[in-house]
Amino acid sequence: MPLTFDYRLLHQGQGLHEAAFDWETWQRLDEIASELYRGGNATATARFDYPFGGVITCSVCHELMRCTKVQGEHTIRTYYTCFTQNRGLPCSAPVRTTAGHIVEEVFGDLLRQYQLGDSWRIDLLHLLEERATSDYWEQIEKTRRNLEAERKKLNVMFRAGGIEAEEYEREMQGVNARLAQLPRPEEQERYKAKALEAGEVLASLSECWNAAQRDKNFALLGEYVNSMLRAGGLVWDTEKRAIQALRPHSEYFPVLLLVMSKEWKQDGEYLVCEQPMGYRAAEKKWPMTPEQRQRIEQLHTQGVSVRGISEALGIGRMTIQRYLKWCEGSQE
Ligand SMILES: [Zn+2]
Repeated sequence: MPLTFDYRLLHQGQGLHEAAFDWETWQRLDEIASELYRGGNATATARFDYPFGGVITCSVCHELMRCTKVQGEHTIRTYYTCFTQNRGLPCSAPVRTTAGHIVEEVFGDLLRQYQLGDSWRIDLLHLLEERATSDYWEQIEKTRRNLEAERKKLNVMFRAGGIEAEEYEREMQGVNARLAQLPRPEEQERYKAKALEAGEVLASLSECWNAAQRDKNFALLGEYVNSMLRAGGLVWDTEKRAIQALRPHSEYFPVLLLVMSKEWKQDGEYLVCEQPMGYRAAEKKWPMTPEQRQRIEQLHTQGVSVRGISEALGIGRMTIQRYLKWCEGSQE
């Protein structure tokens, strides 16, 4: 089935629903989570722990994933979780949580896999020339038309009383920001220069990423992510533990296409991978239903012990332990 991305899905329903989980559960999530959930504008503190905050999006429901952490005695474990179901909305992802370090590693693998060759500058210039006359600008014009239609729609909805002023403002700001980011044909030369700059950054990004990961410099990792990807720009398949699509800043598009175009295809503002490579051996057969697996993750994030989970669900402790280990990304 071809993957289609509709950016409107990313905004759909935000602010329309009440929290469908209890106050206690809510309290357990750190405040940063709700801040990040609003998207894009992660604070410095938030980025410190969550390099993908405001960027990582559930591949099934296309909502931004929430960042949570569990403070251990010596370590802090971070997680990205799709909260759509907790909010009483449909998302059929059978697994909803991935440990932060797994996402970091998979992203690092991606950077390693698509390193630029020696002749990348020449190749990129060729591509840019080609693109100047090809469907690239047509795509951009199409996006511009869509965004302008979106603006009209918002105005109509607002006038008809279909949305609140606050939501209207927010959505409108989002659409305007995206319009402002679109390159214009007359800006081609400037765009070329920016695309080359993006290439320079990407050329050393894999190494930089590894170093920052080694130093556990999450703030820096967050900066790298945000310099390359837009808000909601990492579409994450929690089941496969793989990146399904990227939504890079427009100046990164040509250089990414240059190195990734064999496996990744352009779909509007996204680069989509049809057969994303999962983290390690990705999927495993578990003697549990998807619902049970979700429940285990849920109870675990709430701090319930393995024994407690085992008793609550009637599943063996060993199985639960193995499953949680797998979730954490340890070799299994
Ligand atoms: Zn989801």
